[in-house]
Amino acid sequence: MKFTYVTLFHGLIDGYFQDSILKRAMAKGLFSVEYLNPRDYSTSKHKKVDDTAVGGGAGMVMTPQPLFDALNELRSRGDVHIIFTTPVGKPFVQNDAKRLATKAHVAFVSGRYEGIDERVIETFADEVFSIGDYVLTGGELPSLVMSDAIVRNIEGVLGNADSLETESFETQLLEAPSFGKPPVYDGKAAPSEYLKGNHSKIAALKFALSECKTKFFRPEQLLQHRKRTFYEK
Ligand code: SAM
Repeated sequence: MKFTYVTLFHGLIDGYFQDSILKRAMAKGLFSVEYLNPRDYSTSKHKKVDDTAVGGGAGMVMTPQPLFDALNELRSRGDVHIIFTTPVGKPFVQNDAKRLATKAHVAFVSGRYEGIDERVIETFADEVFSIGDYVLTGGELPSLVMSDAIVRNIEGVLGNADSLETESFETQLLEAPSFGKPPVYDGKAAPSEYLKGNHSKIAALKFALSECKTKFFRPEQLLQHRKRTFYEK
């Protein structure tokens, strides 16, 4: 799989791939990354990429020409799924990460300033995502958040693929609490059932704890889960 990051600040992204699981996955050839800087495509004398907004308003907007030229060139190289990052996009969720992990080439376009000229988004977007209801200064973190979530779902990236199956959001339920060794630490014990080695009892307890956690932190997810399991019966 290949990721292309269309960004004015590739240094903000590059460091994330220099360590840990993603570094190893890249070294194994499971995915690769490349960068396109819209500034390199600007035809203006001073390589400008932003301007004031048509119709007025606060701040600067990323202008269409550099992004049109960069993205036309990207598309001319072959099939690519282009994602725009913006707080007004649809919320990015685990199912999107799994679905996008099957694509061969995904590009993320990072906005800066007050955002990207709407005509660029209308012309090139295959999908438009937000990573949450808050405003960041740029699209680099959202692009990284999405690519990290996607890469975990590529076969061979995680040492133990089973861990994907029990993770939060696989079934709308959040994952049950985990306890690392030792079983008792600072006078606080892990649930005694976890220590007895009866796998079906451990699984039943984990499921009950999973439901408790979901009820407490994400009650709407628990409702979804119950509706789904009710209709599946
Ligand atoms: N003026 C825009 C608004 O109110 O919707 C916010 C622009 S933000 C300062 C600059 C860039 O950061 C956006 O173009 C987008 O690429 C990125 N960004 C900020 N928050 C984001 C979020 N929650 N999800 C995805 N991208 C975001």
